[in-house]
Amino acid sequence: MTRTTASRPLLERITVAEGEGRAIQDAATREVIGHAPVHTTEDLDRAIAAARAAQPAWAALGHAERSRILRAIADDIEAEAEDLARLLSREQGKPLNGPNARFEVGACAVWTRNAADTPLEPEVVFEAGASRAEVHYDPLGVVAAIGPWNWPMMITVWQIAPSLRMGNTVVVKPSEHTPLSVLALVDVFARHLPSGVVAAVSGDREVGAAIAGHEGVDKVMFTGSTATGRRIVESSAQNLARLTLELGGNDAGIVLPDTDVAAIAQDLFWGIFINTGQTCASLKRLYVHESQYEQVVQALADLAASTPMGHGLDEANVLGPLQNETQFQIVSRLVDDARARGARIVAGGHPAPALGPLFFEATVVADIDDAAPLVVEEQFGPVIPVLAYTDVEEAVRRANDSAQGLGASVWSQDLDAAKAVAARLQAGTVWINQHGGLNPQVPFGGVKASGYGQEFGVAGLKAVAAPKVISY
Ligand code: NAD
Repeated sequence: MTRTTASRPLLERITVAEGEGRAIQDAATREVIGHAPVHTTEDLDRAIAAARAAQPAWAALGHAERSRILRAIADDIEAEAEDLARLLSREQGKPLNGPNARFEVGACAVWTRNAADTPLEPEVVFEAGASRAEVHYDPLGVVAAIGPWNWPMMITVWQIAPSLRMGNTVVVKPSEHTPLSVLALVDVFARHLPSGVVAAVSGDREVGAAIAGHEGVDKVMFTGSTATGRRIVESSAQNLARLTLELGGNDAGIVLPDTDVAAIAQDLFWGIFINTGQTCASLKRLYVHESQYEQVVQALADLAASTPMGHGLDEANVLGPLQNETQFQIVSRLVDDARARGARIVAGGHPAPALGPLFFEATVVADIDDAAPLVVEEQFGPVIPVLAYTDVEEAVRRANDSAQGLGASVWSQDLDAAKAVAARLQAGTVWINQHGGLNPQVPFGGVKASGYGQEFGVAGLKAVAAPKVISY
């Protein structure tokens, strides 16, 4: 077995010398943090071969021993939490405080423990006299975990902790924008695990493309954009890998008439602006009854204007920059287009270069039409379009008029009225009086172009297992 305590400082363990890797910048200042290894497709082949070789012995350890190891990993994530959070904050841009870096690292420990503690017994699905049919859950083999840059550590844990628990081995392909955060997390896992059980291959998009269709891969856990998800479906024709696809979202929220606006304002704000809006299941289009439209727009604008934004390591800040230039350009384009269409910019609306090159003000846009790209596309940034409606039927129809179906929310003091609307929304999760809250025991996944398959809880363990019927 391997060492279980960190022997050297975090950055030293995961970076390579200048000239041997790719420079990774602080998202806020663009200062170089360190150099990430650039693995090749040959490195990928070696990692997958090692994972295949290690898998039978790892599976043979059994659930109890694998769960014990996962709990030790969770303890170790907590022991190193502050260093992990500081690295994540610099590379990703998210502040230490608020629902950001420390929160993300804390969630890594919680989800790892949950994967260890969730029971999954064989299920008896038929019984008559002495005859029985049971469903057992075997490992699939090697899981490829491909993740995005917005919650890089937490999403990697969502993919790898259940996979390991079920007796699979894992090869992780981090986003090229946030490799160091994922390498640091995988380093914590790897030092508790036999060689080959988990490895990170930190290459560019070629490595991503090669991993999904690789003949040594049995399952792909993918979180990222819908466009890349489609490519992964194509790649899986080569190896028939099972897929879990957590793709983009354009979540609608509906505020029903007679809502207590002051009571919901904070939760509404964070449902939109969590991680500076760079969250798959954050609120991205808000429909408000015309009787309370101005009140909601103003409450959000006041919070947008008064919530501290800046460098993540400054303890005062809770909003940060866009993580990368491409995302900054997307957000700028969508806001410029909204302005050009005559929409009303009630708060923000501009880049904030005084804070750093990738900062964009927290922005609230009112009086915008349904066809505007800011409404139709996923903005993935600190901008919310707020749209007025006259009757609830119309709001439900407009909320459902989207290719995506990840999350949605309904806001009301009347729980029955909210549940009736929730039942009619097309989404994998509909929250009431909150948006985006996740629970490691509650299944999470999308419908429509937001993907298929579920993560978390028992459903998440089954998603990384091969069901096998034993019948007698
Ligand atoms: P992306 O699709 O550009 O990249 C995701 C990952 O796929 C990266 O690691 C990338 O290197 C890899 N990749 C690229 N081409 C590939 C290929 N051909 N085959 C295999 N892998 C390939 O997404 P992103 O920009 O990093 O992330 C933002 C998107 O992710 C948003 O749309 C967001 O909504 C979505 N997202 C969804 C969830 C969810 O749970 N549904 C969570 C977070 C983010």
